[in-house]
Order: sequence, then structure tokens, then C-alpha cells
Amino acid sequence: MSAPATTQEIPREVLHLLSVPSLDDQSEAQQRGAACVWDGQPLTAETAVELGERRHRRLDGHYSTFPRGCAPCVADRAHRALLDHGASCEQCVDNAELCIVGRVLYRLVREGRR
Ligand SMILES: [Zn+2]
Ligand SMILES: [Zn+2]
Repeated sequence: MSAPATTQEIPREVLHLLSVPSLDDQSEAQQRGAACVWDGQPLTAETAVELGERRHRRLDGHYSTFPRGCAPCVADRAHRALLDHGASCEQCVDNAELCIVGRVLYRLVREGRR
């Protein structure tokens, strides 16, 4: 067993900034979390970044998927989210070190670009 990636636990408020393609645009492997939800790369336990539960509405009710992404795609989305976030977050303007959202996004960007 290798050490778990430090990207494992991403807070909810950060997860929802990383928008995932709609279910119709996902392959069956992507819906199962076996492939990166953005570029379709096959994922392993070591490379996958958990993107949290996503709820979907259907005619017959709700159901959930647990999409996963590869680190480079997560870094790319996190980078965009960070630009948006940094422009509108007073805490980040004041002191980015104290902003959880800013810090987590920054970490994801860094980890994806190893
Ligand atoms: Zn990917
Ligand atoms: Zn912030």
C-alpha cells in the first residue's frame, strides 16, 4: 500500500467549485468513478482525486454519483476556480493564508503539476 495522496479530503465548499460535466456527457466508466470525469483517463486508487457526492435529478427521483478526476485535470479546474475565487474573496485579498478555499485550491493546483 502506498501512502494516500494528500488530495484525498477536499472540503465541500471547494468541491462544488470544481464543476463536473453533466451526466449525459459522461461515459459509464466516468459515472462509476473508474475514469477521470473530465478527460476519461483510467484511474487507480493512487491517481484518483475524489470529487465528492453529486446528486442528480431524474424523472423517477434523485440519485448520486461519486465522480473522480485525475490530478492534472483537477489542477486545471482548481486553477480556474482559484482565479475566480481570488477576485471575489475578501479573505484572500486580505490574507490568503487564512482562507480555506483559497488554500485548498492552491494545493490542488500545485499537486497536479508535479
Ligand atoms: Zn483527467
Ligand atoms: Zn478566499
